[in-house]
Amino acid sequence: MKRIPDEKCASVCGLFCGACPSFPEECHGCLSDYVREGCRECKNGFRKCASNHTVARCCERIEFPCQKLEKFSKYPVINGICNHANVISDLKRMKDIGILSWLKEQVDEFTCPECGELISWFDRNSHVCSKQK
Ligand code: SF4
Ligand code: SF4
Repeated sequence: MKRIPDEKCASVCGLFCGACPSFPEECHGCLSDYVREGCRECKNGFRKCASNHTVARCCERIEFPCQKLEKFSKYPVINGICNHANVISDLKRMKDIGILSWLKEQVDEFTCPECGELISWFDRNSHVCSKQK
């Protein structure tokens, strides 16, 4: 069954997990109970920091955006695409319009209008629509 991205896909650090290549087969989103190993450890410490300060996401902290998040937004660059590039502006947007409205915007942005499939960050310029295969 097709999995619809929910609030758990509005990640602690500002990513839209619905556009992650691991969603939904290997991961159901940063705030879910089924998180892919690499992100479960969250080596940048965003999950731990949020939990220590009893907030759900970085944008709820007074220090937002911290230096760690600034640095995170600049890497990695894979095939010319940095999927972290918008984390700060996206967290600001979540704060401004609310998580559900932000999620709707993201789902609209990353859904192929033809086949209705979610397109990964890395496939936005190379998506092959299943209707046109
Ligand atoms: S692997 Fe990380 S970025 Fe991808 S869906 Fe899971 S928590 Fe989100
Ligand atoms: S890097 Fe950390 S906070 Fe960001 S999506 Fe992955 S687990 Fe969540």
